[in-house]
Amino acid sequence: MNRFKKAITLTLVLVFLTMVVAGCNLNYIDKASPSLTCYTLKLSYDNENHVLSGVQRVQFTNGTTNTLDSLHFHLYANAYRQDASHLIVSPNYVQSCYCYGQSFGEIAFDWVKVEDTAVAFEIGGTDCDVLIVPLSKTLYPDESVTVEMVYEISLPHIKHRLGFGENTVSLGNFFPILCMIDQTGSWQDTPYYVYGDPFVSQMANFDVSLSCDSDFIVASTGTLLTTSTEKDVTTYTIEAKVVRDFAIVMSKNFKVLTQTEDGVQVKYYYFDDDDPATALAFAVNSLKYFGDNIAKYPYDTYSVAQADFCFGGMEYPMLSVISAETTAKIETVIHETAHQWFYNLVASDQIEHPWQDEGLVEFLTQLYLDQCGEVPLKESMRKYLKNYTTYVNVLTDYLGKLDTTMRASYKFDTEQGYVYMTYVKGALMFNSIYDACGKDKFFNALRRYFDDCKLTVATPEQMQASFSSGYGADIAGFFDSYINGENQLVPLKGKEPSS
Ligand SMILES: [Zn+2]
Repeated sequence: MNRFKKAITLTLVLVFLTMVVAGCNLNYIDKASPSLTCYTLKLSYDNENHVLSGVQRVQFTNGTTNTLDSLHFHLYANAYRQDASHLIVSPNYVQSCYCYGQSFGEIAFDWVKVEDTAVAFEIGGTDCDVLIVPLSKTLYPDESVTVEMVYEISLPHIKHRLGFGENTVSLGNFFPILCMIDQTGSWQDTPYYVYGDPFVSQMANFDVSLSCDSDFIVASTGTLLTTSTEKDVTTYTIEAKVVRDFAIVMSKNFKVLTQTEDGVQVKYYYFDDDDPATALAFAVNSLKYFGDNIAKYPYDTYSVAQADFCFGGMEYPMLSVISAETTAKIETVIHETAHQWFYNLVASDQIEHPWQDEGLVEFLTQLYLDQCGEVPLKESMRKYLKNYTTYVNVLTDYLGKLDTTMRASYKFDTEQGYVYMTYVKGALMFNSIYDACGKDKFFNALRRYFDDCKLTVATPEQMQASFSSGYGADIAGFFDSYINGENQLVPLKGKEPSS
């Protein structure tokens, strides 16, 4: 083989390998889609009364090894009821969330049908926040069932995931979504806990139509398929395949900036931003960075939308919500973008182990800020360590002792405790692994985590196994020393990685 031929052959092999790798990257979405639950939502928003009407069909296949006699759906909209027992915000956020005064919301059902027959459904759970749909016959593994329901959701006038403000209507965690099923076949009827994001859900497909006043501009999960307008009402049809949730933010004041990069249309919806190009650039570039280093972003659109929102930001599949009032716009855009990988594509139990995605995503945000020349990682991590140490020392002096475990979100009794143990300590833990591994091994570990756990809800053990493999030695004990609460943050050093 002469040199020329060899070069040609090598080029062809490289092109072929690139195609195979690119194909493999995205094939997992197409492969997963047919076996997933399908939600068909026909939504109509009445902007005068702030009521969302929904006709929802759910096609569910029992993918467990247990039989099921009912389906359970979270009704997060009922967390906004006046008599809800769980608060929707901690005292720190009451003022910013309820800035228009007290306001409440809820979901009410007209009927629920199973296979076209009306059933006597029940509103259960510990806080009237679970819809229990009895099945007419036992659903065996691999058997399917179709459930239909008609409901109205009244929106509270608040700055939260679900509600309307002076600029935006936020429809986050609004529709009845299937609860998780544990290994014994029991439905996980978890309520709406006040700290963190109290949501865990399986991947699903969504076909959504939304009718609303024509002067609304709509940002959402999914890809817009069609738009039609009749008498000042516009109907959008939207499709989202293999995503964990579906959310919408709409506004009559939105302006939109768009940039297409690597086949992904990135949109920034804003109503109050003097420098929208910067937010868009950070969304585009961080999406590319995480795509290049972890796994290609597998969808064709990604939207970032400003909202009347009391927290900094909130992640949804293919959609990140950013508070118009945040003083950390760039960090929030990067943080929520990183969640596209670690919340959506690889989920974890955000209630039991909130550090697993939040700690990692917080670290990845600081790592990206370092890589793009904004803030050196050493500097940000020094600040995180100083803040963490000050918090622990001050509260230990004051209280006598402090629980520094990285624990379930419902085990915290203050917002600060949740933030320091989940985000700050979590980020410091991942930084220590990064310090010990270096960038290449760290991302090898993350790619392994992604490959092993994509489209599932990963356990902490699966994450630890991936990082142990990236590091070259078992580091489950290192994770435990952080998670189980030793005050001293011992760095992952002292033994050289084996290779
Ligand atoms: Zn987050």
